[in-house]
Amino acid sequence: MKTFYDIHMHAFNLSHPSLSVFLQRSDLIDSFFKSAPKSKIKTKTSFWGWLRKIICYMLIGIGVVVLIPLLIAASPIILLGIFILAMLLKRNLKSVLHFVLSMPAVKNAISKAMRTLTFFEIPLEYQFLVLDYYLKSKMEYRPNEKQILIGKTAYNKIVLCPLVIDFGRKNIPDGVFYNFTPKSPIANQVGDLLYAIRTYYRFEVEVKDQKMHLSKEIPDWEKSKTEKLFEIYPFMGLDPANYDDWNDLEKLLDKYFAEFDEKDTAKMRRDRFLKKMGTLDSNMYNPTEGYYYNVFAGIKLYPQLGFDPYPSNSKEFEKVKRLYLYCIEKRIPITTHCSDGGYKVGDNDHLTSPLGKWKKVLEQKEFENLTLNFAHFGSQKGKQTEWRDAIIELTKKYPNIYTDISCNDTTAEYYNNLGKLFNDSNPQLHEKVLFGSDFSINLLVTEAQSYNHYLETFAEAELAHKTDLCERNPERFLFGE
Ligand SMILES: [Zn+2]
Repeated sequence: MKTFYDIHMHAFNLSHPSLSVFLQRSDLIDSFFKSAPKSKIKTKTSFWGWLRKIICYMLIGIGVVVLIPLLIAASPIILLGIFILAMLLKRNLKSVLHFVLSMPAVKNAISKAMRTLTFFEIPLEYQFLVLDYYLKSKMEYRPNEKQILIGKTAYNKIVLCPLVIDFGRKNIPDGVFYNFTPKSPIANQVGDLLYAIRTYYRFEVEVKDQKMHLSKEIPDWEKSKTEKLFEIYPFMGLDPANYDDWNDLEKLLDKYFAEFDEKDTAKMRRDRFLKKMGTLDSNMYNPTEGYYYNVFAGIKLYPQLGFDPYPSNSKEFEKVKRLYLYCIEKRIPITTHCSDGGYKVGDNDHLTSPLGKWKKVLEQKEFENLTLNFAHFGSQKGKQTEWRDAIIELTKKYPNIYTDISCNDTTAEYYNNLGKLFNDSNPQLHEKVLFGSDFSINLLVTEAQSYNHYLETFAEAELAHKTDLCERNPERFLFGE
């Protein structure tokens, strides 16, 4: 049996991601208006180029010195001009708007928003079924063998790891009237996710007259669930700062991970999950012991939202330290957001960077065996590669450090550059990189049109070690050896 792994995706609908946090992103406009990728070859500036630049700057300087007094003197006339222009525009506002809307960058931004919203507006309980439906109907699917072709490889299963994000602290700005957030901000998100998994295993979608609806419940669904295309292993999002003390946090961890043991074999772990998959409903307050065991496969941390990997405050440090030791003792994999974008509350790059606090964490003997995935391969704006290079160094030093390529470019160029990193100076790297998509958030910030599109770009890319990235490495990261 062949399994394809997507180690990093999200299952959200419009009620889950914190839109107020998203609005506070400093790079919101940039990411939204990022147009389709162009060639990134940098041309050298010639002598005449430099001369032109210098003359330009001089002219701007002179302009500013002369213009400012002129502007002050002429301000009544300017105001009158603005008034007349506004009156004219008022009449032609419609044509101005049409012009703005026809600009390529605006068109691209609108189509991104449309494809994101149309997916986010699908009720969460349908989303896995919808992904399944479109993969089977738009890619090559062999119904008799129950295999899907990704590129030239036939897979029996696709593993999805939806990561829950703890949006706990939202930095609500002053002046906002409803300024409290609930204590357990992720209960609804988790409940909806569990219900979506349950729906996926018990139903199919049927399409009639362009409308999708659920089939009758599959009789004996528990026996036939092994025939479904997806296996779903969610990661629990948390921020220790949202819990009073270690006891409070440990209670939560035990609720989900008490049965994990470092000595589990990969098969034992996977079998336990498979047995549980699809059996839970959305009720997050079931008091029966063991009810929530073996549902979550790992933990998601989000430094850009304020999680501090190495707090200086001793009370906070105690919680984080115990969390790491708990994860090591039970071999719970952790994925930490690692890019200078994403959901950002203020400037938390110093918490997110693999160079600073995370490096310090791993330098502590007691934490060096953490199973840790730096998401997005440390992606930074422009051509910066410090974080990426730091991650590569960490994968050389520590045995269980991984990195995923989710939400990176959807171009052949990205994969070409990635391939160049698998060289003699990084002989370990091809065993450390994990395939991830960041679907459905990637619809908004990359050129991916759909989940199919993201998979196809990966499948078509010329890249060595592909099967390591989408099969062997994620399997090892998720379940251990
Ligand atoms: Zn993500």
